[in-house]
Amino acid sequence: MALIVHKYGGTSMGSTERIRNVAKRVAKWARAGHQMVVVPSAMSGETNRLLGLAKELASGTPDDDHNRELDMLASTGEQASSALLAIALQSEGLQAVSYAGWQVQVKTDSAFTKARIERIDDERVRADLDAGKVVVITGFQGVDDAGNITTLGRGGSDTSAVAIAAAMKANECLIYTDVDGVYTTDPRVEPDARRLATVSFEEMLEMASLGSKVLQIRSVEFAGKYKVPLRVLSSFTPWDIDINEEAKSGTLITFEEDENMEQAVVSGIAFNRDEAKISVLGVPDKPGIAYHILGAVADANIEVDVIIQNLSKDGRTDFSFTVHRNDYAKAVDLLKAKVLPTLGAADIVGDTKICKVSIVGIGMRSHVGVASKMFRVLSEEGINIQMISTSEIKTSVVIDEKYMELAVRALHKAFDLDQSAS
Ligand code: ADP
Ligand code: ASP
Ligand code: MG
Repeated sequence: MALIVHKYGGTSMGSTERIRNVAKRVAKWARAGHQMVVVPSAMSGETNRLLGLAKELASGTPDDDHNRELDMLASTGEQASSALLAIALQSEGLQAVSYAGWQVQVKTDSAFTKARIERIDDERVRADLDAGKVVVITGFQGVDDAGNITTLGRGGSDTSAVAIAAAMKANECLIYTDVDGVYTTDPRVEPDARRLATVSFEEMLEMASLGSKVLQIRSVEFAGKYKVPLRVLSSFTPWDIDINEEAKSGTLITFEEDENMEQAVVSGIAFNRDEAKISVLGVPDKPGIAYHILGAVADANIEVDVIIQNLSKDGRTDFSFTVHRNDYAKAVDLLKAKVLPTLGAADIVGDTKICKVSIVGIGMRSHVGVASKMFRVLSEEGINIQMISTSEIKTSVVIDEKYMELAVRALHKAFDLDQSAS
């Protein structure tokens, strides 16, 4: 008997019929003798619908003013889907109970809309499991020390599931979604993308942080920290397929490098349309500039991603960086108010129509010329690179958003990731 955590995403929970299917699948696992904890997302579209309503009523005021209420609101999506799943499980003849995050409790900090899980008290859940119940726990939400409901950021149900699996020392955490695993790139952008039977934890971490939303980055961090066996697989296979076959399907996140395995140099391509570029033009080229500009941005709790400072000409230079698009207006206003006057910079310009495309692979550690090949491929497509950032196992470029799909497909082919290449 094993303790297994299943997570089902929004599309997998998207209708009563799909919820019934989820219940049948979970029942199959429970009847095979496993203790089951199930973490559902809200039904697809529900979180967007709720946040859209809030936006209508909040127009004209910065989102930040409403963050506590946004969490109060958005968390209801998962509460509804969890209760529906528990009902469906009971209808399958199982004993089932659903809990909201505050009931478990899933304790988080108080950073509304992007809270972090700090600890999970699993006593109640264990007692239910020992009593033979399937336990359904809301994804995406928790509770802070003051008793406020919090949410974990978009896609946060992945993190709920992995954190619960870690806290309960589950034998495995299975993330059921609308694709049958982790692909070399988003199969919706590149139909020729190939499913990876395994992907290393480090590569998955990079892919998630660079925009592959198949797993929320924090879920991968949790899996790494607590060595949670983690698999991504499809919820769209027939629920009654053989359980052993199902248990081996999809993509396994691995923690140890397989020395014997021939490593592809590049394993995947990630992209992200969520960033915007800000350039501070004509700043005096002297010590303390980066600190002056980025210190102000950091003080406002705005995360910065790619950064470049250009060569100086006549003692002045341009300084560019990217932030999340949601933080763009705030960052520009802040820089205009605080940095332009004190720094003596000439101007601040921004571009929200950019994207970041990245190649990822642990094989890049031991191969030279990978980045230059990337630049060559982009130049052959006539795509101008605006910014570059590299680390040991990835190279990212910032380009015009309108070339994103072209860049992804050209790179996918050039690095032999297409199905036909295997
Ligand atoms: P869920 O609602 O199940 O959490 P998400 O929409 O959050 O599902 O994540 C699954 C989606 O992630 C897929 O439908 C796919 O479009 C996208 N995706 C992005 N990059 C990848 C990738 N490398 N492999 C698989 N799916 C990816
Ligand atoms: N329902 C939340 C969202 O749409 C959390 C999740 O689906 O993981 O972002
Ligand atoms: Mg998701």
